[in-house]
Amino acid sequence: MRSELFIGGTWQAPASGETYAIVNPATEEPCATVARGDERDVDRAVAAARRAFDEGPWPRMSPHERGRLVWRLGELLTEHVDELARLESLCTGKTLFDSGKIEIPFAAEVFRYYAGWASKIHGETVPVREGALTFTLRQPVGVVGAIVPWNFPFLLAAWKVAPALAAGNTVVLKPASQTPLTALRFAELVQEAGLPEGVVNVVTGPGARVGLALVRDPRVDKIAFTGSTEVGKQIMREAAGTLKRLSLELGGKSPNIVFADADLDAAVRGAMTGIFYNKGEVCAAGSRLFLEAPIHDAFMARLTERVKGLKVGDPFDRTTRIGPVVSRQQLETVLGYIEAGQREGARLVTGGRRVGTRGYFVEPTVFDGVTNRMRIAREEIFGPVLAVIPFTSVEDAVAQGNDTPYGLAAAVWTRDVAKAIRVARALRAGTVWVNAYNLYDAALPFGGFKESGFGRELGAAGLEHYTEVKTVWVDLG
Ligand code: NAD
Repeated sequence: MRSELFIGGTWQAPASGETYAIVNPATEEPCATVARGDERDVDRAVAAARRAFDEGPWPRMSPHERGRLVWRLGELLTEHVDELARLESLCTGKTLFDSGKIEIPFAAEVFRYYAGWASKIHGETVPVREGALTFTLRQPVGVVGAIVPWNFPFLLAAWKVAPALAAGNTVVLKPASQTPLTALRFAELVQEAGLPEGVVNVVTGPGARVGLALVRDPRVDKIAFTGSTEVGKQIMREAAGTLKRLSLELGGKSPNIVFADADLDAAVRGAMTGIFYNKGEVCAAGSRLFLEAPIHDAFMARLTERVKGLKVGDPFDRTTRIGPVVSRQQLETVLGYIEAGQREGARLVTGGRRVGTRGYFVEPTVFDGVTNRMRIAREEIFGPVLAVIPFTSVEDAVAQGNDTPYGLAAAVWTRDVAKAIRVARALRAGTVWVNAYNLYDAALPFGGFKESGFGRELGAAGLEHYTEVKTVWVDLG
């Protein structure tokens, strides 16, 4: 793996001359060495992206040609899916199945989806009076700083880079410090695809330096950020200095609501995917499971049996369902929340402990008898810990479901279509699944209400914040 930065189309040593080790969370051993970038590297990367935008061919080339290059990136990702999946699993602990069969293929799809959009971004003519021709243009925003977290390192980079490129922007990508490997490999594919120099730049290093420098730099026109609500708020404060455009995809504490008339087997499977996919390190995780009183016991019996059967272990083993959490810090955070749940009086049904002494493995954990006031129901744990909360009516489910500062996702399980739609309308969340959980598509917008952020990624909505609308008024005399 490269221990340099990708700036202006070439691989460059970081200004600090320093590198740092990436840790494999399954073994706690170093698995790669990457460059420790800092403000000086951001300065060079932004200058390169600025030049590529202001003077280079990228925003000026025909949209068909730009679309072909974005498509080519999608194809290269597909060609290298196994290699990228291994890199992703190596530093995140996610199973090879999840990276190789779901996430890298989805990222490739996102590039192909937005490749198609490149030639379909346009303004409108808006006739306002006889003596004028008035129309709008949709132009790229400029230089985009893309800052991504460690839970879906490449997928969430793709959600930003693909629409940014399709619309004619240039990008400085800052991967999470723990998980930069796929972004670095992607930079090589950018070279292979033949994108002009400076259109994509990758700077690795600590968020508080590299990320913050991007946010503060007046030459960066827009920041697309996915990460914690706390850092999102900090970015918003910092971005005020230059009034740069922002899209923020932040945390969640999503309600997964099961009514008594639901298909229970399907709902149990949905509850499992909702919280245990990617070890619960999912912004949209269904971390609060609301069960209607009459089915509570039957549901819990089925759920508990299945949770006990989940295999925790080596992410490269095909039979593993739950790999290690991403870092020692995350391990401590998750175990801390499990302790807090017990202290606050929730009933630990299964799990609750670290597995083994090497690698950051945590048992899939279920708490019952949780109230919406407990910390495990209010704060984002970002680990395999489920809080089960009882409810008694549609109104109660909606009120409790919405009783959170977050609003990223929600799900409702019922056979009653009218009830499903009423509840879906009433939940204040950016995505509501009905009789499903954790389904995404490149064509469907994703993002949050409330403190889960603003702006949408994916779909046509995802393009909007990579363009500026310009009004042109031509006086016809
Ligand atoms: P984080 O906020 O700590 O870091 C996210 C990114 O920001 C990283 O690249 C980090 O290096 C960088 N960063 C850190 N401090 C910074 C600063 N002061 N200025 C600029 N950049 C900075 O988040 P994380 O722990 O990597 O990721 C987990 C979080 O991401 C969770 O809260 C999760 O809910 C959220 N998330 C949200 C979505 C979504 O779509 N809404 C998706 C995935 C993850």
